[in-house]
Amino acid sequence: MCRTEEADGAGGVRDKMTQIIVPTDTPGFNIVRRIPVWGHDSNHCEIEYKNVRVPVTNQLGRTGSGHQAAQDRLGAGRVFHCMNSVGQMWRAFDLMVKRSIDREVHGGRLETKQFIQGFIADSYIDIMTARLMTIHTAEIIDSGQDPRTIISALKVYVPAAFERVVDRAIQVHGAMGVSGDTPLAGMYTGARTLRLADGPDEVHRILIAKNVLNKYHDGGSWDFGI
Ligand SMILES: Cc1cc2nc3c(=O)[nH]c(=O)nc-3n(C[C@H](O)[C@H](O)[C@H](O)COP(=O)(O)OP(=O)(O)OC[C@H]3O[C@@H](n4cnc5c(N)ncnc54)[C@H](O)[C@@H]3O)c2cc1C
Repeated sequence: MCRTEEADGAGGVRDKMTQIIVPTDTPGFNIVRRIPVWGHDSNHCEIEYKNVRVPVTNQLGRTGSGHQAAQDRLGAGRVFHCMNSVGQMWRAFDLMVKRSIDREVHGGRLETKQFIQGFIADSYIDIMTARLMTIHTAEIIDSGQDPRTIISALKVYVPAAFERVVDRAIQVHGAMGVSGDTPLAGMYTGARTLRLADGPDEVHRILIAKNVLNKYHDGGSWDFGI
């Protein structure tokens, strides 16, 4: 995706990007390096495009449609990430509850300690809230209503709830929780990364507030439904 605006900057702010297919054997295309993520090798790469030329037929859609095309993909992508997160939260919850039943410390099983019961209850609430919000967002998309505000809200809420649930599951497992013997460490870094990928929390909060304020400035109010 690259800027294709007119030299005089004409065109709306959303009309300045275009997506172009660049085959990786095109001269000037160079994978500089794979960027480690959380200290591990990844398939995220730093890519250099130097005087790359491709046929004009490699352009996707009309000139200037790249931003909208990316947004269309990202909206659904954010919901898919949240669905995936709910599944992982559920798995972390299972591991946490089973560990609290199996593990005995200082004269009692973990499940008998109020701190741990609080972890279980708060995680139940986090998962259920994340799950219902994800389903509701999918329903809004299906209904044809503008889903941008709820998608941003979902994108802020679910990764943070995911992070909290996995954090508690790690705590209940003690040192084992940060070891490679459970999937929790990977889930934790994944949850933290999701607060950046597909747009950082702050940008989504700005969008939510902007959409709400616009509604009131237009003389309406926010409808949370029944
Ligand atoms: C593992 C991983 C995979 C990714 N995969 C993709 C991908 O497939 N495709 C893709 O396009 N991108 C991808 N991203 C990029 C991701 O969307 C960006 O990293 C993210 O949008 C933040 O942009 P940035 O890194 O340039 O940070 P910056 O824009 O520099 O922002 C840094 C911080 O500044 C703050 N900030 C930014 N803007 C504002 C604002 N307006 N007001 C207040 N505070 C603000 C936020 O706290 C933000 O975290 C990926 C990122 C990661 C970590």
